[in-house]
Amino acid sequence: MSPKKSQSAVEEVSQIYAELAQRPILRNCTRLTECCHFKLTGRTPYLTKGEGVVAARAFRATGRKSLPKNPDGICPMLHRQSGACLIYHDRPFGCRTHFCAAAGGPVARREVLDLIRRLEKIDVDLGGNGPRTLQAAVADALEKI
Ligand code: SF4
Repeated sequence: MSPKKSQSAVEEVSQIYAELAQRPILRNCTRLTECCHFKLTGRTPYLTKGEGVVAARAFRATGRKSLPKNPDGICPMLHRQSGACLIYHDRPFGCRTHFCAAAGGPVARREVLDLIRRLEKIDVDLGGNGPRTLQAAVADALEKI
């Protein structure tokens, strides 16, 4: 992936996140981080390739090099000591639209289908093979940035 292509993908993904935030969808994430405990919830966010690059860049910007092991099924982006998401501003689409009841429940797919399609197109443009688990998508992106 060329640096130019990667930068363009990052900008487009960030734009999609910004557009999602502008939608009149009733959501109120208060950072309870319950959804960040994948083993407990039985759900793991899946990321398209562009989202993986955005998350990996944000993770690297914290000064970290590689993902920590998470045998207990906690998201590797969750800071153990503070309990905060290390990349909250750049968190994946799934973390913004997930099932969390406290935040308002899952966003209906039809309300964000156009944004999903754009993320999928970026995935194809970057040579991805569709969404992958957060851990796999970010680990892969970290190797290439
Ligand atoms: S990326 Fe952040 S918000 Fe999403 S599951 Fe991981 S810690 Fe939670």
